[in-house]
Order: sequence, then structure tokens, then C-alpha cells
Amino acid sequence: AANSSGNISVRPHGDETLPHQDIDLMKVVKNVMVPKSSGGLGLQLPLIVRFPDVLKNRLECLQSAFDSAVKSQGYGSHYQGVFPVKCNQDRFIVEDIVNFGSPFRFGLEAGSKPEILLAMSCLCKGNPDAFLVCNGFKDAEYVSLALLGRKLAFNTMIVLEQEHELDLVINLSQKMNVRPLIGLRAKLRTKQSNHYGSYSGEKGKFGLTSTQIVSVVAKLSESGMLDCLQLLHFHIGSMIPSSSLLSHGVSEAAQIYCELVRLGAHMKIIDVGGGLGIDYDGSKSGEPDQSVTYTLEEYAEAVVSSIRYVCHRRSVKHPVICSESGRAIVSHHSVLIFEAASDVKPVAHQPKPDDIQFLLQREEDLYAAVMRGDQESSLLYVEQLKQRCLEEFKEGVLSIEQLVSVDGLCEWVLKAIGGSDPVQTYNMNLSIFTSTPDHLGMGQLFPIVPIHKLDQKPGARGVLSDLTCDSDGKIVKFIGGESSLPLHEIDSYGGGGRYLLGLFLGGSYEETMGGVHNLFGGPSVVRVSQSDGPHSFVVTRAVSGQPSSDVLRAVQHEPEIMLQTLKHRAEEVMHTKGSGEEDENEYKNVAACLDRSFHNMPYLATEEGIS
Ligand code: PLP
Repeated sequence: AANSSGNISVRPHGDETLPHQDIDLMKVVKNVMVPKSSGGLGLQLPLIVRFPDVLKNRLECLQSAFDSAVKSQGYGSHYQGVFPVKCNQDRFIVEDIVNFGSPFRFGLEAGSKPEILLAMSCLCKGNPDAFLVCNGFKDAEYVSLALLGRKLAFNTMIVLEQEHELDLVINLSQKMNVRPLIGLRAKLRTKQSNHYGSYSGEKGKFGLTSTQIVSVVAKLSESGMLDCLQLLHFHIGSMIPSSSLLSHGVSEAAQIYCELVRLGAHMKIIDVGGGLGIDYDGSKSGEPDQSVTYTLEEYAEAVVSSIRYVCHRRSVKHPVICSESGRAIVSHHSVLIFEAASDVKPVAHQPKPDDIQFLLQREEDLYAAVMRGDQESSLLYVEQLKQRCLEEFKEGVLSIEQLVSVDGLCEWVLKAIGGSDPVQTYNMNLSIFTSTPDHLGMGQLFPIVPIHKLDQKPGARGVLSDLTCDSDGKIVKFIGGESSLPLHEIDSYGGGGRYLLGLFLGGSYEETMGGVHNLFGGPSVVRVSQSDGPHSFVVTRAVSGQPSSDVLRAVQHEPEIMLQTLKHRAEEVMHTKGSGEEDENEYKNVAACLDRSFHNMPYLATEEGIS
């Protein structure tokens, strides 16, 4: 929502009765950008502002949605979720989730060896009953690590994604003398058809087919380890669009669960995977990848009722319900703030009476069309005129100044007939490749809104172009299928004040998947919590964005050596000019400039602070 100053205000607990606790996002940005020379943090944009209070609220809402569904349906067990760390492995986010989720035994899901390491270390401070679900393709080291987790008294569930992983689990658990907790991922036949569902269904990338499940059960039974099989997992894709599709998937999985019970496994948990979607465009339309038709409560009700129904019919004890919701937990808690400025337009040529005369003589048809207000013909003649003049320029008949005059004249004509393109390009001090890779990769749309000036009517429409030297680096499609955004009219960087936009709902996946195309690295990050103090917020952590030296290091360059080499070169070049005091000073300036270039962020530097 916008506050009385026209700035975006954040209401971390979503409680409308406590507006005095709202956090003014613009105040946060101004606060953390106060230059170091004035005792501030001196952070630069782009900037990710994280709100742990929002994270806590999302977790609590998810838990209470399931608790209510369990209670209202008389379900015979409980909900105990895990957070898939791949959605955002940031240490403080994972630690927050473990901490906030501890009262309800919330755990973590890992899909690789380093993810298991971070999950185990974070869970040391978590609830001892929390699950650590180990998904993904596994080698012997992965399985050993998960078994080690059992020795360290974590509830590590090794979820078999491929049949041959079972041999590793059987052999290594015997070798390490540890009784494993085993789960298996079923390849469901229920398939969702959006982008994220491409790995669901019978031909999906992950999981075991019915044949493989039966064979795993037989092998476990032969090894006397069928009691270790306790969890059934499936994942039909992220952003499940409707609760009816969800119910189909959960019912199919619940039947498999009951079959595993019948076959003698000591089943205890059904893990419904991720897929709890969020409404990026607020339409609740179920538009693939952008929207879902259900609320958190309806999602939980659909899961609980589908499992309850199947288990009731099969007289099977109700399992603990686990979900691996990632997007729905972390997306909301952070905002990406960046600066935008409208493209510098050529100053409109004010046609002189002589020019009009020139047009009248040369372009009778155009002149007549303008005079009678015929927009369609005017546009056509303008295009023809431009084309012809370009040809004449290429022939060397028109000079560059004459070409500029014609451009100005055409612009004037377009304005006069109301035919100018109302959409301006706004340049963002941001890399889409680094900060919103899903927009490029699969057209994911995110809400983008100015975080200030919301008490002024936007006078322009704009598309957004990023800093990279890549024509794909632009946003020309927005929420609601719009091809431009309503934006305020702002001059290029520095002129007319800063214009700050916020990109919302990007807290999951975007940060971890972004690359360093053109060597634009990660933004600055701050964590902001509510406080009773004068500002209603307190900055609990601030990290500057990646400096150029870090991104260079990421592609195997060695910034320290590069700096030395360049300084050495400066020394050589400057000393050839003589060794007077002037040269010495020039060398020092060059060296200081090089130093700064390695230490600063790769983004455009604008003046420090913000007024
Ligand atoms: N679990 C598994 C196995 C996944 O592959 C994913 C993501 O695709 C998730 C959980 C998280 O899904 P979501 O972010 O839709 O909750």
C-alpha cells in the first residue's frame, strides 16, 4: 500500500489494524544509502531489502492453514513442512526459517551435498523432530553424508529418486552401521501442463515408476530393511494452478502410500512436494505460471481431504503430512530496489517557419494530410519521408544536420497529429540476467512499482531496459499482459532526482539462479525488522553488493594480480614521461582510480546518498 507521503509501505504482519507499525520502504532505502562519510552504511543500489517478519508471517500462515484443515476434517495426524533450501540458500533466510519454524517442527529439504551440509548445520539450532528431506541425484558421498546425519541424530530421510540409489543406501548403511530412514519419490501419472510441470508425468525426469517401486520394496524386504521405508514423496511441479489438479495428484500418491503399507513398509509420512503457488498478478485466474486459483487455506484443505479420503477407504492410519513449499514461503519477504531513468530523448526540433515552408514545398501530400487532421495518411507520409531522406543521406545528398532537421520535423508532425509513441524506454541500473533470470528464461512476470511518488499521477508509460549489452536485457511485458508500465516522467540519471522502482515477489529462485552476465554481480542486501523505535524499523544486517573484484574472481581472474599488473604498467608509462612531481601525482591518481574500480560495484555509480 502507499502511505500519506506517497511511498510504498510494508506491513510485515499483514495486520491492517496496526498501520502505525508499517515500514516506509523509501525511508529504509534513504537510511541505508547515507554515505559512510556521514556515518551511514553507504550502500549502493541495486538493493535487496529483506523483511524477516514477512518470512515469519508466511511460515505461520502456512502452518495455521494446515492446522485448521487437520482440525476441521478430524484428520488423525499433523502437518510438518520442510523448506527446500534451493529456493534461497541465503544463510540468514535458512536460519530464520529454522528458528521461526521450530515451534512447529519445521525442517529443511536439500538436493545436493552442499545443501545437506548447510541444512544440517542450520538444523543444529532447530527442533530435534524436524525432518531433513534429502532429494536429488545421489552418489556414495551424498548417501554417506545423509547417513552421517542419522548418526548425528538428524531426521535425514534419504528419498530415492533412481532405483540404483537403493544399492548405495543398503551397502553404505550396513558399512556405517546405521539404520537409514528411506523415502521414495513416485513418478506420478498426474501431470500438470504449465512450464513447471514439464518434469511431471510418466515421462518426467525424476522419481520411480510403479514397476521400480515394486522392485525397491522387494529389494528392501530381501535385505530386511522394509521397516526403513517410511516416506512417500512426489512433486508435480511448481505453481500448481488449481486445487483440483492438486487433489488428483495427492489422491494418486495417497493410493501408492496405501499400497506401500499393504506391501509391508512402515510408512509414516506423505510428502506432497512443492507446487504451492502464489498469485503474481493478483488475478486468481490460474493463468499458467502467473496465478493460482486457490488460497493457502484451500491448498491445505485439498491436500488434507484427499489423503484422508483415500486412507479412510483403505483403512490406513493417517500419515504425517509434509510439504516442500518454497516459492510460497520466501517470495514475499524481499523487494529488489533499483533506479530507473527515462531514455534521454533528442531535444525536439522546434520547426522554424522556413522549415514548414520547406515541408510545404517538398511534401505537399504530408502537409495536406496534417492540415486536414488525417492521422493515418500523415503517419504513412512521415514514414515515406524518413525513408527517402535516409536514402538521400546514404547517397551523400543530405548532410547530417539536414537529416536532424527532418527528424525534428517528423517528430513535430507526429506530435501535432497525436501519433508519437507514448511509450518511453526507462534504463534500469540493474541486470535482469543477475536479478530476474526467470523473466528471461520463462517469461515469469513480477509486480514492478515505483516505491515513491505514488501521490502523483504517472504521466508516462514505459518499458524497462537493463544495463547489460544484450538486447534480451529488457522487460516489455508486465503483470496483466500490459506492454508498458505507468511511470513518472523522469530525466536521465542525476537530473530531476532519483526514481526508484521495486520488484516484488522475487525472493525465491531469482537470487540463486542469477548469473554474472557482463559481470554485473549480486546487489546489496539489508535485513530490516519492525521496531518500536522512532522509524518503526531497524536494520539488523547490511551487506554491500559484490564488488568488481569478486565477479572477476568468479570467472578465474585474480584481481590482486590484475591490480598489480595495471599499476606496474602505469608506473612504466608514467616514468617514460619524466620523473617530476607532476608525474608522481598523476601516477598516484591513476593507482587510486584503479583501486576504486576493483572495490566498487559494477553497476552505474550515482552520487552517494539520496535526498
Ligand atoms: N521440491 C522439489 C522436489 C522441487 O523440485 C521443487 C521445485 O521445483 C520444490 C520442492 C519447491 O517447489 P515450490 O517452490 O513450487 O514450492
